[in-house]
Amino acid sequence: MKELIVLLVFCVLVTTEVQKYDGFKVYRLSLNTTEQLDFLHTLRDSMEGLDFWTGLSILSRPVDIMVDPKYEAEFLKTVKDQGIITEVFIENVQMLIDKEKVTSNSRSGMSWNSYHSLEDIYSWLDELAKTNPSITLINVGSTYEGRQIKGVKVSFNPGKRSVFIEGGIHAREWITPATVTYLINELLTSKDKSFRSIADGFDWYLFPVTNPDGYAFTHNSSRLWRKTRTPYSNCFGADPNRNWNAHWGVAGTSDKPCSEVYGGPAGFSELETSSLSKFISTVGPSLDAYLAFHSYGQMLLMPYGHTSQHLDNYDEVLRIGKAAINGLAKRYNTKYIVGNIAEIIYKASGSSMDWVKMTYKTPIAFTYELRDRGSSGFVLPANQIIPNCLEVVDSIVAMFQEGEKLAYFTLS
Ligand SMILES: [Zn+2]
Repeated sequence: MKELIVLLVFCVLVTTEVQKYDGFKVYRLSLNTTEQLDFLHTLRDSMEGLDFWTGLSILSRPVDIMVDPKYEAEFLKTVKDQGIITEVFIENVQMLIDKEKVTSNSRSGMSWNSYHSLEDIYSWLDELAKTNPSITLINVGSTYEGRQIKGVKVSFNPGKRSVFIEGGIHAREWITPATVTYLINELLTSKDKSFRSIADGFDWYLFPVTNPDGYAFTHNSSRLWRKTRTPYSNCFGADPNRNWNAHWGVAGTSDKPCSEVYGGPAGFSELETSSLSKFISTVGPSLDAYLAFHSYGQMLLMPYGHTSQHLDNYDEVLRIGKAAINGLAKRYNTKYIVGNIAEIIYKASGSSMDWVKMTYKTPIAFTYELRDRGSSGFVLPANQIIPNCLEVVDSIVAMFQEGEKLAYFTLS
């Protein structure tokens, strides 16, 4: 009996322990040959202690890998043997995390000078829905661990065409729920004339945290968790942005459950993606735009991820994307690049954006990879939340104005 109690106490301690990243470094690797790229594909699935912060991309893009100090010597020898050039990009990940600000807000408030927990974000949405007639709360279903997948509809003039915005599908990309909550607040409070005509011209669906279990896990246990929390063999989670039924399993994904890009056992195997897709089906035909927020890298990505062929309205979307990144750069000169996913970063199928575009031919569909370019990566300091959000709003204004020029819709 005593042993059992000791074991139980031990289990509780283990499961509630917060993972520390002391001495974890992020290395940036520069590649010269396709053999080196192929080698990294193998390494990703075979070596412990590595966390790929960027996908395995086209040769010209560097690859960022966080390395557990226990495996650092082995890692360095292995990549050196392949002639791969490495540089330390982040010296100590835990130091960045220690500086990152998380605050518990007052019961109904929200702020953008620190990051917030899932509970805080949800209680803010609840409060908004109670006090604001333009807001309707939406719960599309439950996660694997039983949390709600909650969003809002913002509508000032019901019956308009729609815009759908999602954040937080990758749990560790904390800047993305912060950006989506900021946008909700802007829709409700902005007095800027250009933004107002866009805000009033559509019905908006906004989901700040589309992977709630993962997001809660990044706050409670492991800051750099990416996937869902569904158990699979001896690991947890599928990559929810490789799990949509859009050329599922074809590219940029893995069939190994421990991989960061494990696509799950089947398309829509995850409750999070299947529930959200069912909800999107109810509004899909009315969508004029679909925006997915990710970090990091400062890119605006266009469909599709499974092919570099220019499909659908590629030329027009590229024109809109260029207008958007030019608009974004105006305030702080933050430089983004725009292009097809498969062309400018890597082939990756099964994303939400591709599924929406493929299913509904949504005219405007983009995935933002927000700040920065790797100096903080996923652990973006909280004092960058507001500058990031301001430039994103600028980009959305430019995006929709260009869409209007192409006669996709008429703004008031
Ligand atoms: Zn992401």
